[in-house]
Amino acid sequence: MLTLTADDIRLGCRAANWREALALAGEELEAAGRTTPEYLQGLLDREAQSSTVLGNGIAIPHGTPESREHVRSTGIRVLQFPDGVTWHDDARVHVLVTIAAQSDEHLDILRHLTRVLDKPGLAQQLAEATDRDTLLACLSRTPATPKCDRDTLLLKVPASDTRELALTAAARLQSLGCVEPPFIASLVAQSPQAVGRGLWLVHATDGVTQPALAVATPAKADSALDGVLCLAGQGEDTQPLLEQIDHLLTQPESIARLSADELLARLAGEQANAVTRQVRLLNAHGLHARPAKQLVQVARQQSLPLQLRLLEGDAQAVSATSLTRVIGLGARRGQTLVISAAGEGAQAAVDALAQAIESGLGEAVTPLRAHDERKATDTPTQPVEPLETDTPIKAVAASPGLAVAPAFVMRLPELTYAATANDPDNQCERLNRAIDEAFGQLEALIRQAEGGEAGPILAVHAEMLRDDDLHQAAFDIIREGASAEAGWWQAIDTAAKAQEALADRLLAERAADLRDVGRRVLANLCGVAMPTPPDEAYILVADDLGPSDVARLDTQRVRGLVTAKGGATAHSAILARALGLPAVVGVGERLLTLDSGTDVVVDGERGCIVPAPGAERRRRLNQRLEQLEQLQARAHEARHEPASTVDGHQVEVCANLGNTAHTPEAVERGADGVGLLRTEFIFMAHSEAPDLATQRAEYAKAFDALDGLPLVARTLDVGGDKPLDYWPLPEEDNPFLGLRGIRLSLTRPEILETQLRALLTEAGSRPLRIMFPMVKDLAEFRAAKALVDRLREEIDAPDVQVGVMIEIPSSALLAPTLAPEVDFFSIGTNDLTQYTLAIDRGHPQLSAESDGLHPAVLRLIQMTVQAAHEHGRWVGICGELGSDPQAIPVLLGLGVDEFSVTSRRVPLVKACIRNLALSDAKSLAQLALQQATASDVRDKLEGA
Ligand code: PEP
Ligand code: MG
Repeated sequence: MLTLTADDIRLGCRAANWREALALAGEELEAAGRTTPEYLQGLLDREAQSSTVLGNGIAIPHGTPESREHVRSTGIRVLQFPDGVTWHDDARVHVLVTIAAQSDEHLDILRHLTRVLDKPGLAQQLAEATDRDTLLACLSRTPATPKCDRDTLLLKVPASDTRELALTAAARLQSLGCVEPPFIASLVAQSPQAVGRGLWLVHATDGVTQPALAVATPAKADSALDGVLCLAGQGEDTQPLLEQIDHLLTQPESIARLSADELLARLAGEQANAVTRQVRLLNAHGLHARPAKQLVQVARQQSLPLQLRLLEGDAQAVSATSLTRVIGLGARRGQTLVISAAGEGAQAAVDALAQAIESGLGEAVTPLRAHDERKATDTPTQPVEPLETDTPIKAVAASPGLAVAPAFVMRLPELTYAATANDPDNQCERLNRAIDEAFGQLEALIRQAEGGEAGPILAVHAEMLRDDDLHQAAFDIIREGASAEAGWWQAIDTAAKAQEALADRLLAERAADLRDVGRRVLANLCGVAMPTPPDEAYILVADDLGPSDVARLDTQRVRGLVTAKGGATAHSAILARALGLPAVVGVGERLLTLDSGTDVVVDGERGCIVPAPGAERRRRLNQRLEQLEQLQARAHEARHEPASTVDGHQVEVCANLGNTAHTPEAVERGADGVGLLRTEFIFMAHSEAPDLATQRAEYAKAFDALDGLPLVARTLDVGGDKPLDYWPLPEEDNPFLGLRGIRLSLTRPEILETQLRALLTEAGSRPLRIMFPMVKDLAEFRAAKALVDRLREEIDAPDVQVGVMIEIPSSALLAPTLAPEVDFFSIGTNDLTQYTLAIDRGHPQLSAESDGLHPAVLRLIQMTVQAAHEHGRWVGICGELGSDPQAIPVLLGLGVDEFSVTSRRVPLVKACIRNLALSDAKSLAQLALQQATASDVRDKLEGA
């Protein structure tokens, strides 16, 4: 999100006229590296369309959409003109908030500014500010945004007394993060107060993180109990919530009978007899200043006052004649505005405004399509060349193995539909039919999937379709003028968002199921068939797959995975490896030109696919499959043998685990130990931080099964892409570069201490290797190691080594300074690659390039090993690169002493090492180090 900081501000500017001021602003943006000089013309063109003055001494110059190509990076420059500048609309301006934005990020700034525009004396304060912080403070009174929306309504709760309803409402506010336990404690101690008309109020100020109002209505209402209002917060920020309460108290209906939409309307002050109309905003960049101005002008031409609110928003209506308030809604393309008015002529006035909005408020607009929001951020699609048949297509090897089967291309159909309709009965009928149809489809799929893993998931989908509340929510929206499609999708989206907001991660993940099932009904409404996986073995082909998609795969039938996007270290790839499915990712968008039913070879060993293989290729493929099977059988046979090269160099091959219960399986597969226990999974499996006894029991499972083999346990590694529900972290712009790994653990040393105590106590005399994640330098290592040293004074654990993970380039570069003090290094190539190449490991487009065989990463590994060996320390590899068949000889040649890989891969990695000679591996490593790019490395290795 675009935010204003003191560094963006320049004080004391002077300009003879508005053009000069604008030129200065353009120069500032350019000097800050935000724009090219051509952007100034965009600023001028925009002013020629209409003034960007917001009022109260502030103007917000920004370029036209056409000038966005001159924006290098989104940013703002604020220029203060103490003497003021007369703008071309005669307004006096003291501050220019000049925006260079590539999309509609500036709406956030705009929305933010509108909150301060009403401040009395603002223009003078802006003119007189003598330091940047004061000016910033003038511009950014950031009131805590009060929350009262669909999420805070709890309708028809099966509770019959006011306390129960109050606590249910409070629990919802807690799950939404608006309040913390002291708030609940305060409510428990008080009795709800009757405020009239069967409504009751509870109010507390302790433990409030965001002012909020929840409304709970009972399933069985009567005149004594119509609903409970639960208010959190105090002072100015709760003012809008108090107004909403007032609206409820002054309207005549029983709120327990109202639908969510009706209740939101009453909270917004709309009376039951008001004329309302919903209209979708189609403007590409939302309700920014120019269309907002038009809207206000149309509203002013009407004979009676019009109110406006966002259907998806916080139930606060604003006057449609107030420019700042209309902009303050922050409405974006695709959101629904609700217009309302009461009195004679209301219908005509509402219609006039609706029409103006529908026709774009002076801008050219295009209709919405299903999932338009997602489409809006996609780059325009170019015609793509189809894939050549019987030709290998190189991509990224994400999970080893070889398979051939017909493709099932998961292409989500494009669904187009009208947003509104004026025949609600017919629309409800259509929706009922589409739901019945979906039900029948799911039942057929459940029968087909019998015995497989997809069956239970489909059964959950069918159950979701039976949800009366969901149907009711959709019907309510339809009755307000939406089409069956729009009503249904809005009900699904709202329910999914509420689900996503739940603290329980597993429940939150159900939101994806809800959207899946919603899409099926939507497709039926649009008369489009949903892609249905075949009944027999297939290769799943998709644009991208999230970890939850992979976890939900029907492994009985899926033989392999191929995606257009994605990279080898994305968590979905790690999951594919854990499931033992060959996977190739990052093929590019041409992949989706493939037709379902076409045979595809997935070669997870070489990282390529072959569409429609010819007869000769099939013959060779069958040969390789046979060889692979034999190799696997031989590898399995020899799994307990050591991994020694033909010239007698021995390394260890251990298993990566996230669950200690899988240790016996790893040992059975021939692992020489556990080389990486991702202990965060143990923490994630509990709803609160596991205590000493719980952790000891977990670690005991590993030590017992290892029976004397070493356990390398990584201390808690959360933050970044690994959230922990009960350890909420402040929102960060770059969580991958923020509080994570050991940095985070050191902020709560008591948690780290309990973990270390559990590990050391449980180890006793058994071999324990402790390593700290994401260590950037010696200072962090020392801070963490001090805890271990202190505990070892009281706990007798003689066979303990303490090391660090090398996954930040700084720690590889500084390995010579770390090596004297650590016992070992373990290289986390997933993160090391991410941070070296500056490519997010889960990035949908870029992570395909995030290849650990990049020579830059290899050089860091070389430096690490050299430093370690000079001090007699050992080095392991625990990232995914360790199980890449092309990388194994290189890593061996670089001197790596231990490979820790997915437990399934242990026998094969051992077998691969047994086939190598250390001397050859060293030459390959040298060859790889001399290359310039990752693909050069792979090409050379292939040819060697
Ligand atoms: C790594 O970064 O390589 C690693 C092993 O840690 P994780 O994948 O758990 O981040
Ligand atoms: Mg890591």
